[in-house]
Amino acid sequence: MTGASSRSSRRLVLATLNAAKARELRRLLDRIPYEISELRDLPGATLPEEAAASYRENALGKARAAARQSGAWALADDSGLEVDALGGAPGVLSARFGGPGLDDAGRCARLLEALATVPPERRTARYRCVVAIVDPDGRQWVTEGVVEGTITRAPRGSGGFGYDPVFFYPPLRRTFAELPPEEKARVSHRAIAMGAARRLLGG
Ligand code: IMP
Repeated sequence: MTGASSRSSRRLVLATLNAAKARELRRLLDRIPYEISELRDLPGATLPEEAAASYRENALGKARAAARQSGAWALADDSGLEVDALGGAPGVLSARFGGPGLDDAGRCARLLEALATVPPERRTARYRCVVAIVDPDGRQWVTEGVVEGTITRAPRGSGGFGYDPVFFYPPLRRTFAELPPEEKARVSHRAIAMGAARRLLGG
């Protein structure tokens, strides 16, 4: 099979409406041979709800929709936090954990509550990220990245987003929210999945 980079159209749309996510994706795609834009720059563009039972189907659904609406290449990711003591939850439902009224800090607090009686050795968790790329003809590619960590007892740090203040990364002995953005961009689940995506795109 030929690589994704063999196609001639060089526009790539990021299929996300989340500004923090878009910033991370752009950082991870620097110097690829595509002109990058975001779906929110396309008037009236919409994304399907992340209603599928898998990261893969959610990511593919968003990338397919963005490719169709823009006529360009599209890239989407879907990701989540899997906590072993919760049987892998919140997983694909991470963005909605705890119900609709919560913000990122509220979801972190709810997670710490759920783990209040769980001892350190059982607080293992991982972030998983699946990236989907769809070309203007509807051909598709999928990559995945995983990073292992543990859940802290209290939030620490102000960087990143989502569960980063409670996700402790043992190799650097800091939470993801305590890492400078360029350091998170080197080691994260999204970095791993996007590294493989970059290679597909010829970056
Ligand atoms: P989505 O991939 O935009 O659907 O995000 C899923 C959810 O997983 C986010 O809303 C966060 O709660 C969580 N998540 C995914 N990646 C990260 C990350 O890098 N840091 C913190 N939380 C994340």
